[in-house]
Amino acid sequence: MTADYQTWLSDVRSAVDSMNMRMETWQERWPFDFEREYRNGTVPDAAAEKANRYWWHEQNKAINQNCLKMPNCWLPRNHRGDCQPVNN
Ligand SMILES: [Zn+2]
Repeated sequence: MTADYQTWLSDVRSAVDSMNMRMETWQERWPFDFEREYRNGTVPDAAAEKANRYWWHEQNKAINQNCLKMPNCWLPRNHRGDCQPVNN
């Protein structure tokens, strides 16, 4: 991994921290492909958002609380408003 990637990842980590999420804990359970986001040129804040949605989606599925209206929706079951795809 390059120094640039490490810098980028540390910016992602700050953004994840600001969501009151613990990156290590979530990554351990449901690894999100940050390297791919880096290679695709995703900005750190957007990568953190994507990871956040991905982790919640996995968590909701694991506890059987995933939205049933749309398979790709990361919001909890019976949420209000429109569905939000995890990979948006
Ligand atoms: Zn939904």
